[in-house]
Parts: sequence; C-alpha cells; structure tokens
Amino acid sequence: MKINVIGGGLAGSEAALQIARQGIDVFLYEMRPQRLTEAHKTSLFAELVCSNSLGSLDMKDARGLLKEEAKNLGSLILQVAFKYSLPGGKALVVDREKFSKEITKLIEDNPRIKVKRGEVTNFPVDEINVITTGPLTSSDLLYDMKEKLGMTSLYFFDAISPIVTKESLDLSKMFYGARYTETNDYLNSPMTEEEYKTFYNALINAEKHTPHDFDKVFFEACLPVEEIAKRGFDSMRFGPLTPVGFNKKYHAIVQLRRENIEDTLYELVGFQTSLTYAEQKKVFRLIPGLENADFERFGSIHKNSYVKSNEILLSTLQTKKFKNIFIAGQLCGVEGYTESTVTGLIAGVNAARLLKDKELVSVPQDTMLGSLIKFITQNQLQNPQPMRANFGLIPQEYFSINKIKRKEVFIEKSKAEIEKLKEIINE
Ligand SMILES: Cc1cc2nc3c(=O)[nH]c(=O)nc-3n(C[C@H](O)[C@H](O)[C@H](O)COP(=O)(O)OP(=O)(O)OC[C@H]3O[C@@H](n4cnc5c(N)ncnc54)[C@H](O)[C@@H]3O)c2cc1C
Repeated sequence: MKINVIGGGLAGSEAALQIARQGIDVFLYEMRPQRLTEAHKTSLFAELVCSNSLGSLDMKDARGLLKEEAKNLGSLILQVAFKYSLPGGKALVVDREKFSKEITKLIEDNPRIKVKRGEVTNFPVDEINVITTGPLTSSDLLYDMKEKLGMTSLYFFDAISPIVTKESLDLSKMFYGARYTETNDYLNSPMTEEEYKTFYNALINAEKHTPHDFDKVFFEACLPVEEIAKRGFDSMRFGPLTPVGFNKKYHAIVQLRRENIEDTLYELVGFQTSLTYAEQKKVFRLIPGLENADFERFGSIHKNSYVKSNEILLSTLQTKKFKNIFIAGQLCGVEGYTESTVTGLIAGVNAARLLKDKELVSVPQDTMLGSLIKFITQNQLQNPQPMRANFGLIPQEYFSINKIKRKEVFIEKSKAEIEKLKEIINE
C-alpha cells in the first residue's frame, strides 16, 4: 500500500517526507520540469516562488509562533530552512537554492519516496491522496477536483518582487541596517522628498501587464506596489517604503533583502509588481543606488487558486466527501510558506494514520496552527480569502485577557498542546 502526494511544493514535500518517516511508501507527483507554473523556475522540490523569507521568528508574532509549533512537531522543511538561514533580522530568511536543493536530495534519496514527474490531470478516488498542488494548480486537475469533490474554487491575483545583482548597485547611495534591530541585514536606499515624488509619479503612470481575466482581485497582504501607490501619494510611506525604524530621519526607504549565502543577489522588499519588464527597468532604476541595476528576475503577476475549505474540508484536512482525499498547502486556503508547510505536515501525518488504521489527529485550537485550521474549515464566509497565522484567530475566551498578557498565556498553552500532539504523532 502507498500514498499519493500530488504536488512537490512546500506542503507536498513536507507531507511526503512525513509519510515516508512513518515507514509508508509514497508516490510523489510533480509536473515540473515538463510543465512549469507561471512562477516556478526550476525542477527542484519546495521551490520558493517569491521572497526568500519565511517570515518572523519572534514568538510574539503569530507567524513566529506557528514556526515554533511546526518545528516542535518535527517539520523537516523547517529543519532545512534553519540549516540554510541567512541574516534577516527577526525573520527566517534562507538561501533559496541551497534550501530547495537539500529538500530535493532528501526526497530523491529516500527509499520510500518514488518521484513521478508529469502533470496529474485526475486523481484516483479509491487511493489515499494528499493534494498539495498550490495556488498555481494546473487547470485540468482543478477541473477534476471540482467534478469529483463537488467543490467551488476561488482565486485572487498577486505578484512577485524583482531581484537585482549586488554588483550592479551603487552602494555609496545606500546603507546597511535593519528596521528595529541592531543588525546589518538589509541594504537600504533612502529617498528625499523630491526623489520620492519623481518615483511615485513614474510608478503610477507606468504601463502594466493586464491578463485577460484580470479583474483586480488582489490579496490584501501581498498588493503590487503600484496598487499601494494608487491608494494615495503617501501610502507607500506607510507600507513598504516606510522610513521608520532607524535613528536618522528619512522621507522614504526602499529595502533590499539578501537572497543568497554568496551575497550577490538582492530582492526589493515589498515590490511585488505587474509592471511590464521595460517599465520595471525604467521606474525601479529611479531608486537611489539602482540607477544601473541588473535585474536577475523581474516582478510579475499571477492568478492564485484555492478551494472553499469551509465547504469541503474537515479539521483533519480530509475532504468531507472522500475521507481518503486530503488537501493541504495554499490550495486549502492558507497563505504563506510556513502555513503551507505545516498544513502539509498535518495532512501527511493523517494520511499515514489513515493507512495504519489509527485515529486521525485534529490540531488543538489553543495553538496557532489549530486556530488557523479551524478558521479555514469552519468560517461562515461566502468568499473567504487565504488566511495567514494571526492572533485574531485564537479562541474567543483569550480576548477577556488584556492584550499583552493574552499572547503570553496563549503561547504557554500552545507549547503544552503541541507537546501532547507530538507525543500522539510519534507514538
Ligand atoms: C507568485 C507567488 C508568490 C508568493 N510569494 C510568497 C511569499 O513571498 N511569501 C510567502 O510566505 N508566500 C508566498 N506565496 C504564497 C505561498 O506561500 C506559496 O505559494 C507556497 O509556495 C505555497 O506552497 P504549496 O506547497 O501549497 O504550493 P507550491 O509551493 O506552489 O507547490 C505546488 C506544486 O504543485 C505542482 N503542481 C501544480 N499542479 C500540478 C499538477 N496538476 N500535477 C502535478 N504537480 C502539480 C507545482 O508545480 C508545484 O511544484 C506566493 C505565491 C505565489 C503564487
């Protein structure tokens, strides 16, 4: 007996490794390199399609707490992320290539995992499947899921940020430093009021790509920079170009985050964009220090699909219709690298438990992960948007505690609950 995992992204890689860890054979289906998505560039497993940051490590930040929970539950993807981490202030930033290469090796060298390259257009309902094909799931498979599961799928548009080479930057106009921490993790490009005005005008007048079914359904947490600019002259100064967090006063600051251990590539933080490539060169070269920037990757815009988990999924991440079909990762309506990874872990663990005839686990709600899964599977919304970990999702009873104490109490409770869950998973 074996389990099929469809999609070798973050969720699928974690699921496959967890299932193999339980001594069960896995067929891991991945359509790349035969068919690439609009965002993936390689055939590597767990490719990070945009930023190389997995977000905060601070436990008082919901995504930091989620990471702690995932780490304690034995996430193999996070283990690799820590191994290849780069300086990133309070965030877990990784060397994307080394990270994905190591995960690919772990998968390819695992005797329990058989890799099957090629697009899956339909899945067998009489076998155990974990579907983790992500926000860029191919349309034929999405159609097959709709037919078999009787589900609705939703979508939104978002965009990725450009990457430039360090050697093409004029570092004399930039400085190293991080907002809020005493580290030199970012390259910062300060702008005067005049420079900001010139940049703003060029940005809002620049030509954009407009896909044929583009109808401006953006995900609020990942808005293209030009969409932020359109909301008002100063809106970027309250978003990605905020000048706060440094001792000296600036009008606006663009931050560039290191991309690799070799320190040769930098990503423009928060510069997701749908501008044409020619316009990106023209407009982003107006940023001080980027006048001659070489673009290693341009920003771009994508349609992201996800399922209405509140209609079709149980808290075990099984579908209501077929208990042997699991959905995890961004496709199940969570948003973010860590969120995708850790739902892959739960779906993988539960798929293995189903095969072994063990009772499936639901993550306790007094944890960030449990709160997140509860939200995606039980919210009453007609059109839910993908959800990141956040403290607004935690059970109602915590809101009677004052805000500062609330997090502390919840973090302590989460530690205890995750410990118990870990024991069940490993028994
Ligand atoms: C353009 C873009 C930028 C993003 N940027 C960020 C970011 O900066 N930070 C962040 O936290 N999150 C980001 N996200 C959101 C999300 O965290 C990532 O999409 C994450 O990679 C989701 O993990 P996943 O495993 O669910 O899907 P993926 O990592 O996308 O993996 C899905 C895999 O399934 C494969 N696949 C698809 N269809 C089929 C099929 N029919 N048959 C076989 N294989 C198939 C794909 O090739 C892919 O390898 C971004 C998403 C997108 C689309």
